[in-house]
Amino acid sequence: MVNNTYDAIVVGSGISGGWAAKELTEKGLKVLMLERGENVEHVKDYTNTHKNLWDYPHHGRKSRSTGVSTGDGSR
Ligand SMILES: Cc1cc2nc3c(=O)[nH]c(=O)nc-3n(C[C@H](O)[C@H](O)[C@H](O)COP(=O)(O)OP(=O)(O)OC[C@H]3O[C@@H](n4cnc5c(N)ncnc54)[C@H](O)[C@@H]3O)c2cc1C
Repeated sequence: MVNNTYDAIVVGSGISGGWAAKELTEKGLKVLMLERGENVEHVKDYTNTHKNLWDYPHHGRKSRSTGVSTGDGSR
């Protein structure tokens, strides 16, 4: 049986978890990171980053009927 032991387990690879894992790893600790979300590849998976406003419905402005903005800054 494999005995996996870690100095630290970080749950979530958001900005807080990512920073914590980086700091702990750089200090020489053996770190396990658990992430429940999808694997997001840096740059490749930022599908909205280079979209222009006219690529969104209502050109990023709020819809008159729903009042919801569609150019919301999400990936
Ligand atoms: C649309 C949008 C735009 C934003 N724009 C900005 C901006 O321009 N500038 C700015 O400073 N801030 C911005 N923010 C806020 C910023 O994203 C958050 O403040 C920041 O991400 C919080 O970091 P966090 O590490 O606490 O949480 P998160 O980044 O949410 O990370 C938490 C991670 O933990 C994972 N997780 C949760 N539960 C579990 C579990 N049980 N097991 C395993 N993994 C788990 C999640 O999948 C996630 O990856 C924006 C937020 C949104 C929604």
